[in-house]
Amino acid sequence: MNLNKFIEKKPLIIAGPCSAESKNQLLNISNQIKDYVDIFRAGVWKPRTNPNNFEGYGEKALNWLSSVKKQTGLKTATEVATAKHVEKCLYYDIDVLWIGARTTVNPFYIEEIAEALRGVDIEIYIKNPIHPELSLWIGAVERIYNKGVKKIAAIHRGFYTYELSAYRNEPKWEIPIELKRELPEINILCDPSHIAGSKELIPELSQTAMDLNMDGLMIETHNNPYEALSDANQQVKPKNLKKIISDLILRDQSEIDKNPNNELNLLRNKIDQIDKKIITNLSKRNDIVEEIANLKMNNNLAIFQIKRWYEILSDRECKAESMEIDSNMILDIFKLIHKYSILTQSKIMKK
Ligand code: PEP
Ligand code: MN
Repeated sequence: MNLNKFIEKKPLIIAGPCSAESKNQLLNISNQIKDYVDIFRAGVWKPRTNPNNFEGYGEKALNWLSSVKKQTGLKTATEVATAKHVEKCLYYDIDVLWIGARTTVNPFYIEEIAEALRGVDIEIYIKNPIHPELSLWIGAVERIYNKGVKKIAAIHRGFYTYELSAYRNEPKWEIPIELKRELPEINILCDPSHIAGSKELIPELSQTAMDLNMDGLMIETHNNPYEALSDANQQVKPKNLKKIISDLILRDQSEIDKNPNNELNLLRNKIDQIDKKIITNLSKRNDIVEEIANLKMNNNLAIFQIKRWYEILSDRECKAESMEIDSNMILDIFKLIHKYSILTQSKIMKK
């Protein structure tokens, strides 16, 4: 793929309600936010988990988006999930289409949407799939790219988890970072609203996105969030949106790259040296694991010895506490080291 960055303004701000609820509502919100927003969003077809929930006003709401564009001059955006949605949006001259998390998971849907977009000059923003599978996200970008669409960006909206979490969707920042490594030229925006699930967490998530050098934010904004027909807890009021944007600290990435001797680079060098030592030590540890495996095999001993494992855990935990380092982190690291130690031993014993 030969993707190019196309978003010039940084950070690009997309805002508007989760769902388009009436023409008046869209005009009201867009008029309040037009001075500090680049693209106005509103969901027209809403993919809801429960079929009894509000599922959007469909085509007539596209007309309301056209009115927003006429009155405010803002570009407009909505979510598409089928080829029919794409056709309708093109007919109503919507500027930006986004593909939602529930659609990115399914290559059949993406292929259908991609076909409807063949050769069309429009901006397409692709949200990550619901679960953390990077290859599906990249696959969706590639399918759309293959049909000749040139302006493709990604939106990071977090990942569903069964585990107890402060977030509605776990951010797992390492996944958009990995996307950037695989596709260095792709623009990535963050949708802190769907990560957070509650408006209180949106400012800090937005700042993290900026610190990670993301290109923009999509923030759900509603004139009366408490009465919203969808995602009521996570929508902010126009004046809160203004504050979130004006409080953002934008750090200059190019300065960091230009000054090889600056403090950050010196510290990074130290980290590189320490990581090298960690890897060298892990390699030495592995040599001993192999010796142990041979010894166990010759003496007919089982690989996994639970007493020893408990000793390791409690000893490493105590050491972490005495050094005032997060003991949960140390336990997680040793669980991983132990997992691979068992794997190495079982490989040797199978030979
Ligand atoms: C939305 O943006 O309103 C939406 C439904 O998003 P997601 O696909 O991220 O859940
Ligand atoms: Mn929403």
